[in-house]
Amino acid sequence: MNLALVHSRARTGVRAPEVRVEVHLGGGLPTMSIVGLPEAAVREAKDRVRAAMQCAQFEFPQRRITVNLAPADLPKGGGRFDLPIALGILAASGQVPLEALGEYEFLGELGLTGELRMVDGVLPAALAAADAGRKLIVPAGNGAEAALASRVEAYTARTLLEVCAMLTTRKALPAATAPASVAVPGADLRDVRGQAHARRALEVAAAGGHHLLLIGPPGCGKSLLASRLPGLLPEASEEEALESAAIASISGRGLDPSAWRSRPFRAPHHTASAVALVGGGAEPRPGEISLAHNGVLFLDELPEWERRALEVLREPLESGVVTVSRAARSAEFPARFQLVAAMNPCPCGWAGDPSARCTCSPDVVRRYRGRVSGPLMDRIDLHVEVPRLPPVELRPDAPEGEPSADVRRRVLHARMLQQTRAGKPNAQLGQAETSATCRLSNTDHALLERAVEQLQLSARSMHRILRVARTVADLADSPHIRTPHLTEAIGYRRMDRAAIAQPA
Ligand SMILES: [Zn+2]
Repeated sequence: MNLALVHSRARTGVRAPEVRVEVHLGGGLPTMSIVGLPEAAVREAKDRVRAAMQCAQFEFPQRRITVNLAPADLPKGGGRFDLPIALGILAASGQVPLEALGEYEFLGELGLTGELRMVDGVLPAALAAADAGRKLIVPAGNGAEAALASRVEAYTARTLLEVCAMLTTRKALPAATAPASVAVPGADLRDVRGQAHARRALEVAAAGGHHLLLIGPPGCGKSLLASRLPGLLPEASEEEALESAAIASISGRGLDPSAWRSRPFRAPHHTASAVALVGGGAEPRPGEISLAHNGVLFLDELPEWERRALEVLREPLESGVVTVSRAARSAEFPARFQLVAAMNPCPCGWAGDPSARCTCSPDVVRRYRGRVSGPLMDRIDLHVEVPRLPPVELRPDAPEGEPSADVRRRVLHARMLQQTRAGKPNAQLGQAETSATCRLSNTDHALLERAVEQLQLSARSMHRILRVARTVADLADSPHIRTPHLTEAIGYRRMDRAAIAQPA
């Protein structure tokens, strides 16, 4: 037999399309050509495959070897096809049994001595292999990740030789096993003292899935508050956790299989590039906003971020997906994250502080706040001031805050009401759904219209206020939105246009 077919998987976005690795041995001068890989990748793959086969004492056929990776129009970078190519050559030259290959899919880069090296995107490949009804063989280092796809039959190997021994003797390789999921004890709200107003806003944000902006001087506890949000949210469903894990898997930053059930909390630094934040690159990879999918994205020092990077956030904040394109390729990544942003009130950080330490002129303050565009501000439902705490509240004997577990109980109840009413958190209600489920009395409607006019808010913000008011009512277990619920919701937009006027 001169022909062999091996199944493998490429990586495009969060999908793992099938790749057929066809190997043909022909007569003529001994050469090896690989069709379907970029030129530089071909050279490296040839070297690795040849060295690994020889190191494992296999014979590298002295014939005209043609390797075809089909279909032709998929991105096929990286060394993930080394193992299937080597197996194809070995099967075509009769060194491993051909008929054993069909029920498996293979992924793995080869080291020069034949050891199998980890590749990325194993979880999406495992899910797809299960759908195709095939077993999957991956490098030992990828086993935990493959096993997260509980419906796939996955095995691990450390070397090319181990894979060949299995195919020849049919003696099973070790099954891939998922590590015990470690419940990471999240940071607790108990550690946040004082700040009743900000704590309340955090609870409303958690209860309705609303985006939140914290404004306050350095050291007032903005990051502390933000990091408590994941611990208030409902547990991720298995489907949500798999989605998030699949993104981490293809990000090239690695997936921690033991923490895969926790909601992601991403806090990139403001010096991060636009590509690092929203995704991109020659082989498009997800950015921080996709790594935060189904979790929380914390952007500290909001005005310090590159304006271009922040503007790209507008699409995913509305739609929950981001499209990144580069040259001919584009990829869509999920990015339904909850945004918590934080900023100082002015460049020195002390505007509005009773100590009168702020030395910034009104003009400087305006320009600083104007670095964040109106349309982005518009999409953040809750704006809340986090003042510096008076020293008495920081004393060691000051009372602890309410623990996260108690707050979370109220959040879960409010979420349950929303799930029953509309099948989704309030923040994700569309315009028609908002009109249908967030009704106001005539008096309250007039109140809302006056507030929108006075605060110079957009029509978009009006719907957002209604959704927040609905969440406040849910936390109060009230079937109707009442005046105090609406006024609280309007209060969260007080800082908006008044202080942060900026042309769209
Ligand atoms: Zn200042």
